[in-house]
Amino acid sequence: MSRLDVHQFMCRSDNFGVLIHDRESGLTASIDAPDADAVRRALAEKGWRLSHILVTHHHADHTDGIAALKSETGCKVIGPKAEAAKIQGLDEVVAEGNSFKFGPHRVDVLDTPGHTAGHISLVIPDQKMAFVGDTLFVMGCGRIIEGDPQMMWTSLQKIARLPADTELYCGHEYTVANARFALTIEPGNDKLVARAAEVVALRARDQLTQPTRVDIELETNPFLRPAVLAIRERLGMADKKDWEVFAEIRERKNRS
Ligand code: ZN
Ligand code: FE
Repeated sequence: MSRLDVHQFMCRSDNFGVLIHDRESGLTASIDAPDADAVRRALAEKGWRLSHILVTHHHADHTDGIAALKSETGCKVIGPKAEAAKIQGLDEVVAEGNSFKFGPHRVDVLDTPGHTAGHISLVIPDQKMAFVGDTLFVMGCGRIIEGDPQMMWTSLQKIARLPADTELYCGHEYTVANARFALTIEPGNDKLVARAAEVVALRARDQLTQPTRVDIELETNPFLRPAVLAIRERLGMADKKDWEVFAEIRERKNRS
């Protein structure tokens, strides 16, 4: 299967814009639509015509651009069934267990609620690529706004169980702040220490810190590591359940 082209750009203050393009079919999808102008400029830069918007959740910083982009291009808008009432302009609604085609590629849907109640993530298995919105960030995770910690933990585990070499695309560039926080939870993790230095250097050169990868997150993202003894002991939670340790880490991040 041929490789999809990916074009990333920053928009709003800290949202990642992501376009994926299939050369054979000429299709181009925007992952979410944070800002119509920014997506339009990115399309023009690449010479691509928008055919799809794939929506992860209903927040304005992921949906504000839908109406304008759809009316200009006639693109098809696919998004979470459970948030259909909150997202204007959806042409097709999907939930876990559903798949749809993007040119020759199959896109699988995962329900990843917690940040919002109906948040979905999109996986393209033949590309080893997943779009996780505001569920997981590089070395971080989304705020639990409409769900509870157990729900978010279950969602993060779905992402963690994807093949180890799956590339992950997230909704926001929060990486440096996440790394700084992660080091307060697991200062003895050498891989985390090295990666924190790496992402600071990337941002200093104005480069983006994603995609990340499942195996890298498993090694460095404290929100995927509540089972690690050093973390449990540091938090005084040696005998708690994984989701309880996760909840404590999330609480600490909220207060950080
Ligand atoms: Zn959001
Ligand atoms: Fe967001």
